[in-house]
Formats: sequence, C-alpha cells, structure tokens
Amino acid sequence: MIDSHTHLDACRQPLSELLARAEAVGVDRLVTVGTDPASCAAALAAADRHPSVWAAIGCHPNHAELLDEEQLRRDAAHPRCVAIGETGLDYYRDGAPREAQMRAFEFQIALAQQLDKALVIHTRDAAEDTLTLLGERAAGVRVVLHCFSMPERLEDCVAAGWWISFAGNVTYPKNAALAEAATRVPPERLLVETDAPYLAPQSQRGKPNEPAAVHETATFVAEQRGVAYAELERQLDAGAASLYAW
Ligand SMILES: [Zn+2]
Repeated sequence: MIDSHTHLDACRQPLSELLARAEAVGVDRLVTVGTDPASCAAALAAADRHPSVWAAIGCHPNHAELLDEEQLRRDAAHPRCVAIGETGLDYYRDGAPREAQMRAFEFQIALAQQLDKALVIHTRDAAEDTLTLLGERAAGVRVVLHCFSMPERLEDCVAAGWWISFAGNVTYPKNAALAEAATRVPPERLLVETDAPYLAPQSQRGKPNEPAAVHETATFVAEQRGVAYAELERQLDAGAASLYAW
C-alpha cells in the first residue's frame, strides 16, 4: 500500500517509529511533501535515508511569499524527488496574496513540465481558478489532485486525465458525496493518502494522523468500490507507479 501524500516532518514522532507502524500494516511506500524551504529539505533528507520514502518538493499556496525559485529548482532535481508541489490556490485561508499564489503555482507547473515530474495540487475554495489555470498551462503534465474535495467536478478532472487522491475525510459520514465520488474514479487514476498529521480517518478522528492510517482509508475505499483490499492495492500500486514514474 502507498500513502501518496504525507508530511513526515510535521508528524512530531520519530521517523523510524512512523515508518515501522506503517510497514506493519503493509504501507511500504510513501511520498512526503514539502511545503516551504525547511520542509523540502526535511523531505529530501528522509527520502535519502529511507528507501520506502520519496519526496515531493514544493511551495504551498499559504507560503507562496517564501518562494525561492532557484532553491526549489535545485531541490526538485534531486533523484529522490518524484513530484513538484504541493502547489495550487487556497482562497479559504488566504495565507498569501492571490497574485503571489498564482505566480508560485505557475512557476511550479512549468517546473514539473521541464523536469517531467508529477504535479501535486492543493486547492481550497478555489476550484474554478485552479482548474482553469491547469487547463491552460498543464498540458502533458501528470497532475494529482491531493485531498480531493470537489466531487461535483470529478468528471472534468477525470476527463483531463488527472489522478484523484482521497484522504481520511472520505471516511467521514457527512461526506457521502465524496465517498460516492471514490466509486467513480477509474482504477488507473485512483490514489489514497493520509495528509498526516492532518485529517485522520473516522476511527482516529481528531487525533494526529500518521501514514499507517492510510490502511483504514484504503479499506473504506475498497468497500465503497466493491473490490477486495488486495485488488485495490494492486490498482493503487500501478496508478502511483505511472504518476510518480518510480
Ligand atoms: Zn499536504
């Protein structure tokens, strides 16, 4: 099983213990995601030390004003970096001016294109602008919508050929529309993630999340789709391999 999006450096527990607990439930690969210069350095250090860990290198929209293009370009060229991001637009928290978010987003789309790496998208209360910019600029880029949260736009995203990654919130009872969307993603475009330490799945809700919990989210998604866990795992492994090219 793969945790396609996690933040190991933010989990506040020893990395070796997080990875051991993940491995104990069959999570043998994960992508740890940088959101600012310090977390990108931490992601690459973890990926260098642990064969099961790969890095995504990016500048989160909330930190868009910290964008250091040259540093990001250097980090992104690292052989253990499989994706650029998370990047995108966040009009919910508005942690940075929208022009800065847009600039950082455009830079990272172009970087993913140049380096032929996947592009990890964060979007919150900004679906229209995010989808428009991707449609205009991300032709040929392998895009993944992390913590997918716009079931009403699923058809557009699938038609664009993007990967759809579900986090622990898909298991929340009030998110029935999201759970239903998880049944409509083609198997080759489906992923699951923890986004740890955030968004723990239902049984752990409100507690700090960690990569091992992707097992619960995957179990839930398998049930929704009516496939055995092992079958879903094969599909997710193949989908992640084509997205991250590892
Ligand atoms: Zn994230």
